Amino acid sequence: MQKRILIVEDEAPIRDMVAFALRKADMQARHAADAREALRAIAEAPPDLILLDWMLPGLSGLDLARRLHADTGTAAIPIIMLTARGEEIDRVNGLEAGVDDYVVKPFSTRELVARIRAVLRRAQGDDGTGPVELGGLRLDAPAQRVSAGGQPVALGPKEYRLLHFFMTHPERVYSRAQLLDHVWGGGVYVEERTVDVHIRRLRGALEPFALHALIQTVRGAGYRFSTAP
Ligand code: CA
Repeated sequence: MQKRILIVEDEAPIRDMVAFALRKADMQARHAADAREALRAIAEAPPDLILLDWMLPGLSGLDLARRLHADTGTAAIPIIMLTARGEEIDRVNGLEAGVDDYVVKPFSTRELVARIRAVLRRAQGDDGTGPVELGGLRLDAPAQRVSAGGQPVALGPKEYRLLHFFMTHPERVYSRAQLLDHVWGGGVYVEERTVDVHIRRLRGALEPFALHALIQTVRGAGYRFSTAP
């Protein structure tokens, strides 16, 4: 079934560009120009996910997110916030308001679609417990099994966790420090070079399937899982 996405954004060119990309990705797109229109649209037909611009006339995107989060009828609808650079400081507030992810403007629609899919997957599978299929890989979280074209991929526990994180957070660059936080867990002292070692092993495990290029090095920034070369 097609996923229904509500775009709440007052800038028509962005709204239209996003709606076009979503329809091309086989999703249904509706839009609202402010919080009031959004509330009306949600009451009419609850969406599967809301793309919410931070800066809206009237009630801000963050206030709208808070309001939706506080209402049991809408609390479960995942929200991806669209922010401009510099608004990132309010991440903490956004987390409290139940925001699931952020996309910083300007963004590519390919990245946005990938992030929407990842958030929808997490929302459905209750934190990625269902199998994830991406880029020719299939990762079955309950069984901790990874396969490529039906063939099992042999991974160590750290490489498995790294790949699981990447496949549930695709098309996005993570620094070594962020990967340590997410995959190794906070509070553990590990050198950042450790990440490189495990990335190398992960690529080595994917190489027999010619899928090692999914793990991309972004010079000066970190690593990214991407299905685009
Ligand atoms: Ca705006």
